Parts: sequence; structure tokens; C-alpha cells
Amino acid sequence: MTTTTTKPFDIAIVGGGISGLTLAIGLLQQNVPVTVYEAASKFGEIGAGVGFGPNAVRALALISPELPQKLDRLITYGWESQRMNWFRARVGDARKAGPDGVLRQEWKGQKNEGKKVGDPLFDVGYTDADGVKGGVHRAHLLDELLKLLPASVSHLGKRLVSIDPADDESESSSGGDVVLHFADGTSVRHSAVVGCDGIKSRTRDILLKGEAKAVFSGKYAYRGLIPMDKATEMLGAEIAQNCQMYMGHHGHLLTYPIEKGRTMNVVAFSSCDTWSNPDWVVSTSKEKMLSDFAHWGPDVAAIISAMEKRDIWALFDHPPAPTYFGLAPRICLLGDAAHASTPHQGAGAGMCIEDCYVLSRLLGEVQGAGDIGKAFRAYDAARRPRTQKLVSTSREAAMLYEFELVGDDLEAIEENFTTRMKWIWDVDLQEELERAFTILRS
Ligand SMILES: Cc1cc2nc3c(=O)[nH]c(=O)nc-3n(C[C@H](O)[C@H](O)[C@H](O)COP(=O)(O)OP(=O)(O)OC[C@H]3O[C@@H](n4cnc5c(N)ncnc54)[C@H](O)[C@@H]3O)c2cc1C
Repeated sequence: MTTTTTKPFDIAIVGGGISGLTLAIGLLQQNVPVTVYEAASKFGEIGAGVGFGPNAVRALALISPELPQKLDRLITYGWESQRMNWFRARVGDARKAGPDGVLRQEWKGQKNEGKKVGDPLFDVGYTDADGVKGGVHRAHLLDELLKLLPASVSHLGKRLVSIDPADDESESSSGGDVVLHFADGTSVRHSAVVGCDGIKSRTRDILLKGEAKAVFSGKYAYRGLIPMDKATEMLGAEIAQNCQMYMGHHGHLLTYPIEKGRTMNVVAFSSCDTWSNPDWVVSTSKEKMLSDFAHWGPDVAAIISAMEKRDIWALFDHPPAPTYFGLAPRICLLGDAAHASTPHQGAGAGMCIEDCYVLSRLLGEVQGAGDIGKAFRAYDAARRPRTQKLVSTSREAAMLYEFELVGDDLEAIEENFTTRMKWIWDVDLQEELERAFTILRS
């Protein structure tokens, strides 16, 4: 890729996760000088799998034509016959079943059609037959993104502490330059900063003056891995090697293949009213995991028993921010720093990548530092409604899967579930960008 940097302004990115690295690639494609400041001593991701819907893959292709090929090599697919399935939905909870395991819930106008706990009910399928989509290993994805960035762009061990406006404003800066101060005592000056520093974003705190901090969503997740051989032995090949969702009362469980089918990834969700521990990832006991799923059927019981890791992830999300940007100094929020969501629609990272596409193209249109604010304003207007809708509908999605939205009426669940992802997956990103350009030029 080209690394020629021609614009007479430069952008600091705080945070080197999926958002920060993808934005850096996008900005370099637009010849915008960029520097990434990452707090950790090396780039890395916590957790194993991240799913990409068709919108995320299309956004990557628009940012850099090299990205989809790289992604395609990383994606783990299920069976050819199930490639168009996001998830195959089942009821995993046995509380409403008779002693024979047959569900007592109404479905398809007949008394449950003899469906048992764990039987397949319906598929939630993609609508874009041409697009690549699927799950990738987070660390592998980050490695591929890093390969597209010159080493000089990234600075590790740089934890942002505060941001000041530059006080010796030159004519070229047009006012609004930023000075970033890091925990190691160093400071740097740039024309503007984009905060890609995740759900606990310091940049967000600075821009929004501590308002709209992340709140507990009432859900938490156990995440774990099971070697595919063992999973296949336990559940059978079709279940273990494809994407499954088991629904139930105040909980649901997902399984999908990762690492080219060598491993089955498990995410098991449960509910509680409050979260008081300052840590959002805590270790727990096997007994606690088993007690959360004590009333579930044999497949879920087997999966939970086989999970070796015993971490609980508390799931937080952001209340809507009133703005994603400020002008004095120039600050913009992107990705989870702007709109951290619960993971129930598997689309948080996809929204981050869409953000990167729109913001990098807008900044690519800017000719001088004085117009960066216009690009931030256009990005904010174009992206805030869609990304904040993801946060609210994601919470709702968990309620749907956990019999809290339309109860355990399986027909109503199917109707809602099989149509609710359309607005996320089928977005026309070029139209989204055109809208942003119109705002930029107005
Ligand atoms: C359980 C779970 C499952 C998920 N599954 C999916 C899925 O299947 N599909 C999907 O699309 N999304 C999923 N998501 C959401 C997705 O993981 C996030 O939206 C995405 O990773 C956010 O990326 P980010 O780069 O914006 O933030 P982060 O990944 O949080 O990166 C922020 C970076 O900033 C750095 N940083 C933080 N503070 C500072 C500072 N002060 N100074 C400098 N650097 C700093 C951090 O070290 C980190 O590297 C899931 C989320 C969870 C919790």
C-alpha cells in the first residue's frame, strides 16, 4: 500500500484495537499522516472469536482492497450447506419441557410439532449471497491489520492521560491543534485526535466531561473454548462444526467454529441486576457456571461442563453520547469509544469498521487543518444515529433470545429474529458516505 503522506495536517489515533488500526490504514490510503498511540506494550486482543457480518466485510473492502482477501484467509466457515446461516436457533432451556424432553411452547400453530429441547427450530440466514462473512480469531485479525501499517506509525506504551489545546497556534493549524499527554510523562502535538480507546475511553471522558459513561446491561457472559474433536464427540459433527444458538429464560448460549475448525468457541450468557465489582472480567467457579445453567437440557449441560476457562465478562454499554466530536481542541470519537454495545447482534466491530470507512474518506477530502472540524461534524451527523441504534437494539436482541421481549412464544421470536439484522447487514455504505459528503459540503 502507499505510504505517501501529502495532507498538510496530521491525525493522532489513541488506541490500537480493531478501530485504531483500521482507521490508520484508511487514513494512509487517503494520504493523511497518522500516528497510533497504544497504551499496552504490544498490540493484542482479549478473547478468541469475532464475527463479521456482510456490512463489515464490505466496509473493509471499501477501505482497502487488500483487506477482504486477508480476511477471507482468516475466516472459519461452517459446512458448505450452512454457509448462509448466521445461527441455527434452538431452545436449550428445559424448564418448559415435559419429562420426555418435548417442549410445551406453542410453535407454528401446532403444539410444538414434537420438538424437543435442543432440536433445531429455525435458521437465521444472511441475505447477501455474495458477501463474505464469518468468524475470525481476534489476534490473527490484528496481526493482518498491522502488516498493512509501516512500523513508524505505531507507538506502544503510550497511555493517554489528558488533552490540551495547543497554546501557540500557528496559521496553518487554524486553531484547534491538540497536545496529548501520556502517562510516561511525554507529550505530542497533532492537528486533531481520534479516540479509538474502547469502552473505557479516556478521550470520551475528556470530550464529554465524564458524562455518558458505560453502564451495566444486566447481562454477563462466560467465554470458553472446546477442542473440536471433543465437541464433535459430545454433540455430533453437525452441531459442533456449525453456528448454534440455544435460547432460554434469562440466558442464551452460542457456539461456533473458529481457528479453521480446530476449536469450538462458546459464549454463554446469563443475567443479574447489578454489577458492583470494579473489574469487568472476573474468574469464577465451575459450580457457579453449572448453577446458572442447571435447568438447561443435555447439550448445554455438556458444553458448560466441558468449558475449561472460568471467566465471567460483565457486559456494559454506552448511553447515547450527545456528540462524537469537539472543535477546541479537535477531538473525535470512533468505534467502541463512541458507541460501545453489548455483543448480542455480533456487530460492534462491524460498526467500528464502517466508522473508519466514513471518517477516513471524509478526512481524505479535507485540504487543511481548518476544515477538519467540518469532516468531524459530517461524520457525527452521518454515523451517530446508526451506531446508537445498534446499542439499543443489541440490548433488545438479548431480551428476545432470553424470553424477555415476546416471552417464550417461539413463533413471535422467529418472526422478529429472522428479520431484525437486515438494517445492519444490508446497509448501502456508499450511500451512507454520500450523505456524509453532502453534509461536509453544505
Ligand atoms: C463478549 C463480546 C463479544 C463480541 N463479539 C463481537 C462479534 O462477534 N462481532 C462484532 O462485530 N463485535 C463483537 N464484539 C464487539 C467488538 O469486540 C468491539 O466492538 C470492538 O472490538 C471494539 O474495538 P475498538 O478498537 O473500538 O476498541 P478496543 O478493542 O477496546 O480497543 C481499544 C484500544 O485502546 C487502547 N487504550 C485504551 N485506553 C487507552 C489510553 N488511555 N491510551 C492509549 N490507548 C488506550 C486499548 O489498550 C485497546 O488496544 C464483541 C464484544 C464482546 C465484549
